[in-house]
This record gives sequence, C-alpha cells and structure tokens, in this order.
Amino acid sequence: MNSYLPRTDDMFFVLSRVLGAPAQLQALPAFEEIDADLMQQVLGEAGKFVGDVIAPLNRDGDEVGAQWKDGAVTMPPGFRDAYQAFWQAGWPALSAAAEDGGQGLPTVLEAMLYEMLSAANHGWTMAPGLLHGAYECIRHHGSPALKAAYLEKLATGEWLATMCLTEAHAGSDLGMVRTRATPRPDGSYALSGTKIFISGGEHDLSDNIVHLVLARLPDAPAGPKGLSLFVLPKFQADGSRSAVFCERIEEKMGLHGSPTCVLRFDGAVASIVGEPGKGLNAMFVMMNAARLHVALQGIGLLDAAWQKADAYARERRQMRAPGRARGTSDADLIAEHPAIRRILDSQRAWVDAGRVLAYRTAIELDQIRHGDAQAQRSGQRWCALVTPIMKAVFTHQAFHGGSDCLQVFGGHGYVREWGIEQIIRDARVAMIYEGTNEIQAIDLLVRKLLPDGGQDMALLLDSLQADVSDETRGRITTLRALTARIVAAAPRDAALPYRVADDYLRACALVLIDWAWQRIEAGLDGAAADREARWQAPARALRQWLLPEFAMRAGIIEQQCQAVTG
Ligand SMILES: Cc1cc2nc3c(=O)[nH]c(=O)nc-3n(C[C@H](O)[C@H](O)[C@H](O)COP(=O)(O)OP(=O)(O)OC[C@H]3O[C@@H](n4cnc5c(N)ncnc54)[C@H](O)[C@@H]3O)c2cc1C
Repeated sequence: MNSYLPRTDDMFFVLSRVLGAPAQLQALPAFEEIDADLMQQVLGEAGKFVGDVIAPLNRDGDEVGAQWKDGAVTMPPGFRDAYQAFWQAGWPALSAAAEDGGQGLPTVLEAMLYEMLSAANHGWTMAPGLLHGAYECIRHHGSPALKAAYLEKLATGEWLATMCLTEAHAGSDLGMVRTRATPRPDGSYALSGTKIFISGGEHDLSDNIVHLVLARLPDAPAGPKGLSLFVLPKFQADGSRSAVFCERIEEKMGLHGSPTCVLRFDGAVASIVGEPGKGLNAMFVMMNAARLHVALQGIGLLDAAWQKADAYARERRQMRAPGRARGTSDADLIAEHPAIRRILDSQRAWVDAGRVLAYRTAIELDQIRHGDAQAQRSGQRWCALVTPIMKAVFTHQAFHGGSDCLQVFGGHGYVREWGIEQIIRDARVAMIYEGTNEIQAIDLLVRKLLPDGGQDMALLLDSLQADVSDETRGRITTLRALTARIVAAAPRDAALPYRVADDYLRACALVLIDWAWQRIEAGLDGAAADREARWQAPARALRQWLLPEFAMRAGIIEQQCQAVTG
C-alpha cells in the first residue's frame, strides 16, 4: 500500500504561475518580505513533514482508532508525538499574527498545508483543523482578558480547540440548541447540557483543550437570536478540571482517528465571547474558516485517491487497450483503457481546479485582512459566495470521484490492502459536517443571492469575464440569465429556490472550475513541454466529461422556473 506523497511542485505551480500569488501578496505591507523563494521553501518543508511524519500514521489511525475508557480518550499510536512535533515546529502558527505568537505568513500557505495534511491523514488532521477558526473567533470577539488567556495558546497550537454546536435534536437547525448558560455572581457562567458529535472533544494530543460552546441565557428568546457563545478550557488556570465529561465516542463508518464525542456540561464554568445573543455571529468566524478547511479536505482526499489509482493503473495489466498495437509494452496497462483514463483525467481536472479556487480564496482572506478598502470588499464578496460552493462540490467529489478511483482497482479496491476504501469511508462525512451540502446550497442561493437580487453574484461573474474563451463567456452569460430567472420567479413560489439550490450551486461550480482551468492554461504559457503534457489530459477531460453537466443543470433550473412563471 503506497501512502500519500505531497507533490509540492504542482501546488507551487498553481500558487505562483497560475495565481501570481507571490507578487500579489508582496504588494501588501504585511507581506513585504515574503517572496516566492520563501513560500516555496515553507511549502517544501511542510510537504516533508506531512509525508514523513503524518502520512505513515494514517492506517493505524483507521485500524486502531481513538479509544474511550472511563471518560478519557487515548489517540491511536503515534498521534500524540506527531501532534507535539507539529505544534513545536510552529506549523499551526503559520498564519497567526506575530503579536500572538504566530509567524505572520499568508493564509494561503496554511491552506496548502491543510490540503496536504487532510490528504495524508484525515483523522489526525481533524484535531488541529479547528484551531485557526477558534483563534480568529477569540481574536475578533474575545475581551482583552480572554485574548490574554487563550490567543497565544491557540495561535501556537499548544492547546487544541473544539466547536460545540450540535445537540441530539439540533443539527442543521442550531436555533433549537438547549444547552443553558446560567450567570454566576462573579460574571462567569455555568453551562449545563449535552453536545453530541464533538470532534476532538476529549483526547491526549495536547495538555489542554479549549471548548467554544453555543448556549442559551435564561432570558434568551427562542431561536438563533437567543444563542450566545462561551469559552472554557478543559483545565482551568488553577489546574482544576472543568465540569465537562466525555460520555462516549461514536462508532463510525470512517474517520476512526478522530474521536467524535458526546460531551456533558455539568455546570461547567465558562466566559462569554462577544455580546449576549450574538453567539451565532461570533461562531460564524469559526465556521467560515472551517468551511474552507473542509473544502481543502475534499481536494486533498481526492488527490490522495487519485494518486493511488494512478499508480495502480500504471502497473495493472489486463486486455489490450483499443487502438494500441499488439506487443507494445504499455498496450495492456489499464491506464491505457479509455474508461479508466476518463476516470483518472476527470478527477485530476477536479483536483487541479480545486486548488486554484481554494488558494485564491485563501489569498482573498489575506486581502480582507491586509488589503485596502476595495480589495476588502471584493475579497468579502468572493469568500461569501465561493466558500459554500467549494465546500459542497469538493466534498461531493472527494466521495464520488474517490469512489471512481476505487473502481480503477476493481476488486482490489474493495479490500483493505490498498487503502483506498479508507479514503472513501473517511471522506463521506465531509459532505455532512460544517453545514450539510444541502445547507451550503441554501446558504448560497437563499441567504446570499436572493437578498440583494443577485447583485454580488453579478459582480463576481464580471470579475471572471476577463481573458476567457467565448465558450466560457457564453456559460457565464447563461448563469447570469439563470440567476435573474430565479430572482424573478422566487416571489411567486417560496419553495422554488430551495428546489433548485443544488442545481444552481453546481452550475456556479462548473463556471468556476472552467475559469480556473483557463487560468491554468494561461499559466502554462512558456512552461517546459513536459510540464505542459502533465496538464493536457485533465484539460481535455474538463471539456469532454465535466463541463457538459452545466447545460443539464441550466435545463433543470429553466424548467423549474418556467413551471412557476409560465
Ligand atoms: C464525524 C462527525 C464530526 C462532527 N463534528 C462536529 C463538531 O466538531 N462540532 C459540532 O458542533 N458538530 C459536529 N458534527 C455534527 C454535524 O455538523 C451535523 O451532523 C450536521 O450539522 C447535520 O446535522 P444532523 O446530523 O442533525 O442532521 P439534520 O440537520 O437532522 O439533517 C438531516 C438531513 O436533512 C437535511 N436538512 C436539514 N435541514 C434542512 C433544510 N433546512 N433544508 C434542506 N435540507 C435540510 C440535511 O441536509 C440532511 O441531509 C459532526 C458530525 C459528524 C458525523
């Protein structure tokens, strides 16, 4: 079984030649001293750490898994040592601010690190995956006292963090959260209630765990507006243990290296983060960071599945491929069969486009943080609209495209030996957590597009128009028309946007990956011939096998709108 190998040269090509990130970022005062060489060096070191330390633990993570006994959770062999090495080497601190103990590097490097980590070992990566969001949440919404208590610990990763939202009856609908927060005379709060499905709620990776918890004050109104956000550590400053108990961990389909905990809060002493009743606002900072990370999980896992399938297809020999002369050495490799090539090249096209979009999103996050007012506005537009699209399509593709990669192995993919079935089991959950993919589609269409009548989407589409082919421009024009159709028809049938939300999100995604590939092809201009050959087959697959879906989605949306407007 081969384990995942980070291919940082391909990743750096996207960063530098396709997106021009080094020059763009260096133009920001915050990153003046960060040039292409430094970025490449950091990426190379990250790739080495992921390949040497994290990837080899993936199989044990699955087979041994996290173990619960009497409220304590023991992580799989090697996980704690790897985490200690990870934070002590400064990896979680990459993009945190220098004044908080971070390295002040661009967010895009952190994004690339997490893509590799997820590809190498999804279960292990769940633990640090929430760190940066927790850090940003306290940084934006915490009082000076909370910042003093938590920022450095979270920035460096010395302490890990959780996001405690879900309850047995409250999943997608967080407005139903029942955990209570009772004010105490000293200004703190006592939390009581039970949260379920809490990733990393208990473990032995770090010496302390910071819980961010959505709960309801006694006089709070029902629904989401009654939620406030609280923070508490597993161990308080005086060394005493908080009243948070891990009642059990779930038996799951995959992701065995990540403990999914039932956490009981038994009057646990906590501090409020931000204002009462504004808990969801504060939590959204964390959830948005987490959504980009989940999109990166999808891209990384699909890349890992593709790597395995590609290597296997270059060794496995079956019938002679059509059109190949008898006796040529590779004529009977399954990689030569059109059906297998279609799978491999299509998945490669998704991964490569995914990188362009995810790295661009991370660069926009840096623009939001450090750019001028105009850069901030367009960065916010890009992130608000593109993040839910990426979360949904790349997690969908990791599972479905990953399953196609498993198909390349035939029966050998279904047995454990090659490790590809683990990827499929692990990847499945990414379509569910951080807001299910149905909720992402609704977020895009109902919460973000309809309220402004599609104006922000129109501006985003304008920004994609430059330097694209006529065919791509045609798809962008169709998407504009579809947007206007939905906006016009929605007032006549309140359910319409919900019926077509998934089709609309897929149509947007296809326009974005089409745009991403045009940027890749522009970046190849002047590249060495062998480099060009690497990208040709996925570029062809994009046109042959992926983009035709756009017309189908457009047809469904049009038909649904017509049924409403006549
Ligand atoms: C391994 C794992 C790790 C997790 N980690 C965390 C964590 O760290 N912290 C945390 O708080 N939670 C975590 N979760 C919980 C996760 O975020 C929820 O499972 C998810 O939000 C969905 O909630 P639910 O399971 O209650 O499903 P439900 O909300 O009951 O949804 C069931 C189905 O109905 C659909 N649906 C629901 N509402 C709508 C709607 N309005 N429109 C259209 N469709 C709808 C959903 O898309 C889904 O298909 C984790 C879950 C798992 C499995």
